[in-house]
Amino acid sequence: MFPAPSRGVRLVGTTYPMSEADRELQQAVRAFVDELIPHEVEAELHGGELPPELLEAHRRRVAELGLEAINMPKELGGGGFSTFQQVLVQEQVGRVTNALGWVVHTPASWLPEVASQEQLDRWVIPTIRGERRECYAITEEGAGSDVDAIQATATRDGDGYRLNGVKWHVTSFNEADHVFFQGKLAGGANAGAHAMFVLDLDTPGIRVVRTPAYAHTYPYHHPVVAFEDVRVPAGQRIGAEGDGMAFAYEWFRYERLMIAARCLGAAERLIEEATAFAKERQAYGQPIFGYQAIQFSLADSLTELWAARLMTYQTASGIDAEIDVKVQHAQCSMAKLYASEMAGRVADRAVQIFGGRGYMRENVAERFYRELRVDRIWEGTSEIQRAIIADQLAKRGVGRLTG
Ligand SMILES: Cc1cc2nc3c(=O)[nH]c(=O)nc-3n(C[C@H](O)[C@H](O)[C@H](O)COP(=O)(O)OP(=O)(O)OC[C@H]3O[C@@H](n4cnc5c(N)ncnc54)[C@H](O)[C@@H]3O)c2cc1C
Repeated sequence: MFPAPSRGVRLVGTTYPMSEADRELQQAVRAFVDELIPHEVEAELHGGELPPELLEAHRRRVAELGLEAINMPKELGGGGFSTFQQVLVQEQVGRVTNALGWVVHTPASWLPEVASQEQLDRWVIPTIRGERRECYAITEEGAGSDVDAIQATATRDGDGYRLNGVKWHVTSFNEADHVFFQGKLAGGANAGAHAMFVLDLDTPGIRVVRTPAYAHTYPYHHPVVAFEDVRVPAGQRIGAEGDGMAFAYEWFRYERLMIAARCLGAAERLIEEATAFAKERQAYGQPIFGYQAIQFSLADSLTELWAARLMTYQTASGIDAEIDVKVQHAQCSMAKLYASEMAGRVADRAVQIFGGRGYMRENVAERFYRELRVDRIWEGTSEIQRAIIADQLAKRGVGRLTG
């Protein structure tokens, strides 16, 4: 177990100063991810799956290291890590492909504050203990970036609701046992407002329509899921009628920063692997590292990684210092936008440095080249991040956002 974040302690490190405890945490997670990396190719060639006993061993290591539910409050049994510490963990997790790093599971951190006692007992606390797992059903065929365009409905029915809608890309549905469903209220005083519900996946009326294949090779699927007259008691509505959008925004802010962090880890791994390869690989009688074209490619990647890392670390520190939440929002968008686009460029350059090997599925650059693409799409596309950033720029000015 790692000590709680400490303020005013001696800072160590020459590149980015952090407490000794944080440095130790970073190194311990790095060592754990180094244990996962050798299983990547096996996972890649088996649909992202690993033998159950291996997965179980990885879960035990996560528990031993105190990395379960690091984003959840200590009072509920979570890790209570600072945002900065979570970024350090997620950065290391990002160094491994096939979502092997998702064994470090982070439940819905927006939930405890708004959950009823029943919801805490049935869903939140068992999820923190690792006994349950959630998935999200928000996006629809006709509503992705524009969440307000969702057609899913929640209709009052006696002391509960009936839910209807078809949701797309429901990540981890095959591993989860409950789902957060967002719909619009049909009728009543709050007609048209969004509401969020938590439901067990064995509730009658929930069915998988189809499970499409995606570019990455993950054990976590993203099926299209239909909700057909699904009856839920009012106690499974989270917060008040009309609160639904607020929860989504809070989760987006958190997840955007963690995507940025994972992109840092991916870029670091790619630069390390591509550099090692370039120093070994001979062409025209010398290592290709000797050619300026290769050097410049790696130099650009390293420079962009450092810029993205400083942005991401600084954004996390600002959140821990409780700066204005709107500034946090804009900075999380900037970190996600820059880090995800940076990692995409780094992966593309790494494939080029590996040459033909970089196009083989046993090669790390090939896997990351595919996997990192979605980081510019999910939790808000790059265009949506730019729209958020521009909106905040107009309202708050350059100094507030970057000063
Ligand atoms: C692998 C994967 C997993 C996912 N997991 C989940 C999940 O678990 N739960 C869930 O609910 N959703 C999930 N999603 C959905 C994801 O959040 C959406 O795909 C994403 O928000 C984009 O929506 P869309 O695909 O409908 O694209 P659209 O919104 O249709 O966008 C299409 C294009 O138009 C651009 N665009 C849209 N609006 C604007 C604008 N105002 N200005 C400029 N350009 C614009 C977009 O940037 C994009 O380039 C997942 C998606 C993927 C690919």
